[in-house]
Amino acid sequence: MIVFFLLGVTFLLLDRIFNVQRRNNLTFLSIAFGIIFLIHFTVSADHILVKSTGGSLSNLVISFLLLLVIIGYVFLLKKAKNIGKVKFGKDLTKNLFNSEELNRYARHIVLKEIGGLGQKKLKSAKILIIGAGGLGSPVLQYLGAGGIGTIGVVDSDLVDNSNLQRQIIYTDKMIGDPKVFAASEAIRAQNPYTKVLTYNYLFNKQNADDLISNFDLIMDGTDNAQTRYLVNKTCVKLKKPLISGAISQWEGQVMVYTSTLDSPCYQCVFPNIPNTGLAASCSETGVVGALPGVIGSIMAVEAIKLIVGAGELLNGRLMIYDALNAETRTIKLNQDTNCPICSKK
Ligand SMILES: [Zn+2]
Repeated sequence: MIVFFLLGVTFLLLDRIFNVQRRNNLTFLSIAFGIIFLIHFTVSADHILVKSTGGSLSNLVISFLLLLVIIGYVFLLKKAKNIGKVKFGKDLTKNLFNSEELNRYARHIVLKEIGGLGQKKLKSAKILIIGAGGLGSPVLQYLGAGGIGTIGVVDSDLVDNSNLQRQIIYTDKMIGDPKVFAASEAIRAQNPYTKVLTYNYLFNKQNADDLISNFDLIMDGTDNAQTRYLVNKTCVKLKKPLISGAISQWEGQVMVYTSTLDSPCYQCVFPNIPNTGLAASCSETGVVGALPGVIGSIMAVEAIKLIVGAGELLNGRLMIYDALNAETRTIKLNQDTNCPICSKK
């Protein structure tokens, strides 16, 4: 009987401590049981091997079923804990880092919420950033520096002199260059281990599905209202998590939309789509240069938390930062049961 107990404990330890892939773990268990069954069929009943593994075939079958129940219970418990969480990095058994990378990400790896496994998840992640402007700049810079494996960036604009007051990924020399190529060059110069995919065109209905389906997480920092609703609609349809940020004058906001279960989508929170041309952009209303740095950095932190599974996300909570009064507030928001985008009705 003790053998079964040991097998069960081994199963849990392999899974929990050494993070062995569940598939390998089950293969190990199946082989172990196969051998024990074989012993019972080939060796006489009073043999020491038979006595130490249940004594009789019926005991063996009962123990086997009992173990299946325990494994099933542990599996369901894990599943219940992970509901609503997004999975990243399907195959993390490979050693993904060289010594230079380990040193580069050491301050991440030492954090218990990230660790080596979390850093591997970051390297396996593919993030699409829509809009390489004020918010896109810090998002791109921090995610690139933090070791995200693949970053996609979509924008059709050129770097303009008036961007440089806040879009700090660009330099004076880059004026006139397409933003996606300039941003890609800047990320590669900072971290050669991050792969950057550039899409030098406007995000629109025709390319939305294709673009979003190739990534695990979408970050929206565009200043175009129509694009925001299209990004949200596509993310809900393709069940992709979305981190959305917005800034205007002295105020910014961030929210995470996981596109799962009962959490609200962008349109639940902002149901009224502004008509084209009515939504004011930064160029008309102005924006304090450091504000996108604050909001974009919060977006990047939420992205890292979401990928490694750390802490409490701004999921279903809108964070508002009022820079003039130096105040932040967080508002809890629910799914709109009549939302045309995410409601199951
Ligand atoms: Zn909705």
